[in-house]
Amino acid sequence: MYNQNNLLCSNGFREFFLQIKNNSDSPFQIAKTIERNYHLIADELPIAKMYIHLDVPDNILDPVPPDGRNLEIKLCSDENKTGNDFIYFCHTTGDHGLAKIDMYPPAGYTWNENEKKALEFFSEIIFMVFGKSRLGRMMSRTFIMDMLTGAANVRGFNMFGDMLYKSGRLSQYVSMFFNIKNFNYINRNVGSREGDIILRKYVKQISNELESDEEIICRLGGDNFIILVKFSNSEKILEYLKSVQIDCVKNNFKQSFDIRVRAGIYKIQENDAMSDVIHNANIAFHQTRITGNGDYIWFKESMKNQVLKNNEISAVFPKALEEKEFVVYYQPKVMLSNNHLCGCEALVRWFRNGKLVPPMEFIPTLEQEGSICRLDFYVLEQVCRDINYWLENGMQPFCVSVNFSKAHLRHSDFADNIISIIKKYNIDSKYIEVELTETSSYENFEILSKFINRMKENGICTSIDDFGTGYSSLNLLKDLNVDIIKLDKSFLDNLESHNKSDEVLIKHIVGMVSDLNMNIIAEGVETAEQAAFLRSVHCNMAQGYLFDRPLPRNEYEDRLRNGVYNIVAT
Ligand code: C2E
Ligand code: CA
Ligand code: CA
Repeated sequence: MYNQNNLLCSNGFREFFLQIKNNSDSPFQIAKTIERNYHLIADELPIAKMYIHLDVPDNILDPVPPDGRNLEIKLCSDENKTGNDFIYFCHTTGDHGLAKIDMYPPAGYTWNENEKKALEFFSEIIFMVFGKSRLGRMMSRTFIMDMLTGAANVRGFNMFGDMLYKSGRLSQYVSMFFNIKNFNYINRNVGSREGDIILRKYVKQISNELESDEEIICRLGGDNFIILVKFSNSEKILEYLKSVQIDCVKNNFKQSFDIRVRAGIYKIQENDAMSDVIHNANIAFHQTRITGNGDYIWFKESMKNQVLKNNEISAVFPKALEEKEFVVYYQPKVMLSNNHLCGCEALVRWFRNGKLVPPMEFIPTLEQEGSICRLDFYVLEQVCRDINYWLENGMQPFCVSVNFSKAHLRHSDFADNIISIIKKYNIDSKYIEVELTETSSYENFEILSKFINRMKENGICTSIDDFGTGYSSLNLLKDLNVDIIKLDKSFLDNLESHNKSDEVLIKHIVGMVSDLNMNIIAEGVETAEQAAFLRSVHCNMAQGYLFDRPLPRNEYEDRLRNGVYNIVAT
């Protein structure tokens, strides 16, 4: 016999309520808790079974689980003991969702009015518990989730990593720090709103490739991500990351983007802290930024030393420049037809603590962080002072070529600065040549082309350095108004073995360049055979150890004073 008078006021109900109210579990787990504790109120309220249908909008903070949100709560174990005459109650959520709760009586039982009121009250309580748990889940996710993409944020990533660390499993993992290539282009193409949607879809697709609850993707900000995957899955994930297709629909127009990344990868070691996990993958990632190194780079311990070295170079550079530790050397250029000196290239040297540091040890670092621009202008000023000194002392300077890094192309006042320095020292512009390397991006190509024309208008020669090592060489010849092409040393390296294809290439490049009314100089000429071959294909000029190494100023002046620079090419 059921207690009809004080429904849901009993000690049993109080206890039932306490059991379910603190629950911040998933809907499925709450359903199980209700099933387990129903016996506490079974005497008061006869219910055989409930169906709960949670029709709530999908939310980045509380995604609908794959099995949906249709829950069956069996309160009596025997299906045959359930009546058909169910009663239902609907509740709405704050975000326009709906929770519908169907309640079935025991077979052959009809609820009276009093009981129906109690059932309604009971359904309110159940709805509140589900609502509260949903809110709790959403709240806790806001602390650990990136709201734009649904990936973990840094806090969530660290918590996940700490959990792996505590369970002794972190060293079975690999961290991958990656950045989307050309995401700016995508954003500009579709707009930032669609760009956000693309990022969200991208994260979702990658998440589908990860082992749920075992691996994690975190958005660090912008289009930078880091993931933690098991070492055994790392090759598979790297392969997947190589090219991810994402569709974007805007104004009924569908576009598909092929998303590719640059990634630094770190195999986590025993006893590593989470800070190492992020930091080391980041160090490897930075290697991918240096052209020619590749898009996927695994961390090596030596990279850490390189970072320390780079940091040291960056830190001491301004003072070293102030204290004039940088010195300009000059490497002669020679006319191949008569072996006469015809100019030189200015090459910088760093005298640090009594030692000479070669440019390749500091220029790439300065290039990465942009200080190279200050150094290049410093060299140009020194060259201008030396030219004036030579002229004042009766020496014929010839033309001096000065190297300028590609980093200058980012600055709109690049050309103006060169022109104003040459003016400041009152140098005839015929004595200065600007050496630039090839560029592979179209945007830079446009800037480069404008820059070269500006130099030409001001009577300053330009040359393309290391010609033949980039991608766009032939276009360069056709479209850039340069005066001189510097044939890269690598073409000469195989001549000794009488490599026919290199011989043919050099011959035709020289022919093409002169047909286009430009000059050509071969760099890195080391042997008399190379010089003889270059002469035979009518290459005008050469530069290399065969003639001279880069010389300190006073030694180069000896070459200038001799007037004629006669080289006996042995
Ligand atoms: P680069 O502009 O291609 O300069 C030619 C490099 O080849 C020089 O190295 C030179 O010493 C070397 N070299 C010349 N002849 C031979 C040869 O016969 N055989 C061999 N094996 N090498 C030869 P260096 O002086 O060490 O400079 C290396 C690079 O550093 C330069 O390559 C240039 O890219 C950069 N660099 C040097 N000075 C400056 C500067 O003032 N500004 C900028 N932006 N870069 C500079
Ligand atoms: Ca050069
Ligand atoms: Ca070169």
